[in-house]
Amino acid sequence: MTYQSLNPFDGKTLQSFADIADAELETKLATAQTCYEGWRLKSYAERATILNKAAELLHAQVDTFAHTMTLEMGKRIGEARGEVEFSARILAYYAKNAERFLAPVKLDPTVGEAHMESSPIGVIFCVEPWNFPYYQLARIAGPHLMAGNVLVVKHAGIVPRCAIAFEQLLIEAGAPAGLYTNLLISHDQSNRIIDDPRVKGVALTGSVAAGQSIAARAGKNLKISSMELGGSDAFIVLDDADLDHTIPWAVWGRMYNTGQTCCAAKRFIVVESVADAFLARFQAVLSALKAGDPLDETTTLGPLSSEPALVQLLGQVDAAVAAGAKVLIGGKRVDRPGSFMQPTILTDIAPDNPAFRDEFFGPVASFYRVKDEAAAIALANDSDFGLGGSVWTQDEARGRRVASAVETGMMFINNIDWTDAELPFGGIKNSGYGRELGDMGIQQFVNKKLVRVAKMAAPA
Ligand code: NAP
Repeated sequence: MTYQSLNPFDGKTLQSFADIADAELETKLATAQTCYEGWRLKSYAERATILNKAAELLHAQVDTFAHTMTLEMGKRIGEARGEVEFSARILAYYAKNAERFLAPVKLDPTVGEAHMESSPIGVIFCVEPWNFPYYQLARIAGPHLMAGNVLVVKHAGIVPRCAIAFEQLLIEAGAPAGLYTNLLISHDQSNRIIDDPRVKGVALTGSVAAGQSIAARAGKNLKISSMELGGSDAFIVLDDADLDHTIPWAVWGRMYNTGQTCCAAKRFIVVESVADAFLARFQAVLSALKAGDPLDETTTLGPLSSEPALVQLLGQVDAAVAAGAKVLIGGKRVDRPGSFMQPTILTDIAPDNPAFRDEFFGPVASFYRVKDEAAAIALANDSDFGLGGSVWTQDEARGRRVASAVETGMMFINNIDWTDAELPFGGIKNSGYGRELGDMGIQQFVNKKLVRVAKMAAPA
């Protein structure tokens, strides 16, 4: 059984779903292919009608969608509502801007005229993670459907209800059969979809291990792919940082979504002169968070998404300690039912400690004290990941300099307001390749075709 909806707040199973049979999978792929033949010919305005309607429905039913998410993966209800609203904005953003983003681009050849035009490529297979059950789907549906492609989607095993709710949303919005298909499938079936000649591109958001497996399969089939993988973002605090401004962001950056965010602040790299003050205040706020029901608006610490996620995180903390790290606060599960992890700060992490390189996907902050700005940059760059990062300083020019020197796909100065429909999102190194959102996000799975008009004599 791959798909199970289980409430991490109380451990109760809500619903189980069997994987679909191969014959049903074949029918769904055939329907998607047939849908593509018509959808690719629709005007942007016709496509936008459906996506705008989906955005309206999400907005109108924010509480229902948010409730499903909170029950299934433990996101605190206020954050869940925010995610639903944001997903609606992404759909509406592409409905409004896709035609402009994909308009022909005039070129300037020495002879004749030429332009690049953008056209859809077909059925795209998407594999998505549980940590943002709707936002991740909006991030692919908005751009790729507006571009004229159709989607077949494998969501994570622990969020089948969210996966089905999103598919249902598009159907209610008027999507033709096969435009957006949720697939409850095994990894083996997923591999066969990548091999299928009807599938023209593969987009994954998930762990490095999943990326390696799926990108290799796509590569073997010479199919274009985008990989949005993990991260271990640096949160660089310089000596002139305004701590009153910085501390709340440090807490939010590590604790939002109970720390289960790819671009969360994970490595706190603080210049010596402010390190003690930063640590004392950071620790005080984290220690005051109270575990509780994520459906209760007043809860400040939700559960992790699942018991296996908690067990994995606890194991990582134990391995870090065994290799010499110190636990400043936390380090254990919260003594109550449900999959709750204490907010944790690890210090004294040597470069040969596995914690130095690994991603902690939950409320565990790694703290590093450094001599100066140059040492902060060097440590930030000593990572296998390259997703995002932030720098905190009252000198904006200095912030820009540090941002330019850090090797990641995204950098933020005095904020970590990571994602916006208008801004491209993605990383380098083990954090993957390709970008989602913004103008770049819609260019990923389109054919960029050169058309040249020139009447010239053939060379003799
Ligand atoms: P995961 O285990 O890699 O799962 C992500 C998705 O990949 C799920 O749908 C999963 O399905 C599927 N999957 C995993 N291995 C597969 C395989 N061999 N074949 C086919 N499908 C496979 O990741 P996760 O633990 O759910 O999510 C957390 C990770 O995602 C973190 O590393 C996080 O940083 C990253 N993430 C990155 C971004 C970004 O934009 N860069 C955003 C969010 C999350 P099953 O659930 O059925 O195994």
